Amino acid sequence: MKAWTAPSMPTVNVDTPDAPGRLLVHDTATDRLVQVGPAAGTARMYVCGITPYDATHIGHANTYVAFDLLLRTWCDLGLAVEYAQNVTDVDDPLLERALATGKDWEQLAAEQTELFRTDMEALRVVPPNHYIGAVECVPCVSELVHSMHDTGLSYQIDDPKHPDWYFTSSAVPTFGIVSNLDRDTMLTRFAAMGGDPERVGKKDALDSLLWQMARPDEPAWDSPLGRGRPGWHIECTAIALKYLGPAFDVQGGGSDLVFPHHEMSAAQGVAASGDAFAQTYVHSGMVALDGKKMSKSLGNLELVSRLRAAGTESAAIRLALLAHHYRDDWEWTTDGLRRAEERLDLWRRATRLDAAQPVVDVVTRLRAAMRNDLDAPTALGEIDAWAAASIDVDGDDTDAPAQIKATVDALLGISLG
Ligand code: ZN
Repeated sequence: MKAWTAPSMPTVNVDTPDAPGRLLVHDTATDRLVQVGPAAGTARMYVCGITPYDATHIGHANTYVAFDLLLRTWCDLGLAVEYAQNVTDVDDPLLERALATGKDWEQLAAEQTELFRTDMEALRVVPPNHYIGAVECVPCVSELVHSMHDTGLSYQIDDPKHPDWYFTSSAVPTFGIVSNLDRDTMLTRFAAMGGDPERVGKKDALDSLLWQMARPDEPAWDSPLGRGRPGWHIECTAIALKYLGPAFDVQGGGSDLVFPHHEMSAAQGVAASGDAFAQTYVHSGMVALDGKKMSKSLGNLELVSRLRAAGTESAAIRLALLAHHYRDDWEWTTDGLRRAEERLDLWRRATRLDAAQPVVDVVTRLRAAMRNDLDAPTALGEIDAWAAASIDVDGDDTDAPAQIKATVDALLGISLG
């Protein structure tokens, strides 16, 4: 499906020989900082997309802005980026919401996907090259599951009413490498997060649903597996393998996706391709509101669209997100948003003046911060210091404001106008 319009991204024409030449990020699987992306050429990233049944909240925005920083840092290092993201436009929560509100599920998905596009565009998030809906990838999922059947990696459970297809998790010796959880914890989380460890007929309690056979009054598609619809984990496996190939550089998403979603997707990817699924697993923190993780199910949401409709500048929303390290869990507050608005104002005033501080030092430190696990809070501090110094001392560097603007725009996605 179509993504959204890409923001302009200037090139930073400042030579910084002292900045690190590679990007390090935290890998969930090994709990270490690792180099991500090749030294030259094309980096490949997959970030799990939304289930479009409700508007984009700040928690979503935080995730997609985090991976936007990763993409921008790769681009600043001179790499090309191949980026894929899915839209889970047919799934239980979407169908339940459509039923509860009397809406057509396809219409609900289309409306909410469009709102997401609008929010991402306003936040100046670079769109994926491949923006793929589950519905449009039904053939690629069913063909993948069917091919896995020949080698015993997928099977149909013995349930005459609903003979659904499942993944043979025991076929993957590396199952568990993403989350590093013990089996008991996996079973508890699987049950709590939409899995079905108790379902009768499975070979193993941790086997996950690949293809759900048609249910009355639910959408379904004909396939070699029988009429039905894709499971969630295999949707991401199939889309990532089709558009990026195996062993791509980064699999990303919010930390609530580590298990079961990323564990299952990775195991299925390893099983299907015989290669690693992703080389690195990167996760962004959760954003709370009123003391609890912001979530659709709890209903404690701050929506990007609501803030924008109330007149909040998108750049201020983005800057409020960047004030927190992407891996941290934090709480959204109106105070945080106000501080971001003040910061934006300071930066804009400073870039209207000629600077006294040498720009190469600022850009070097900013690049170093971003290349060290996307440390946006430190990067923001560097621009704060430069802006404060520029306002205090009359300078004569007339090129500096344009160079700082380009750096802030290219690396942080903030346009200072
Ligand atoms: Zn996913």
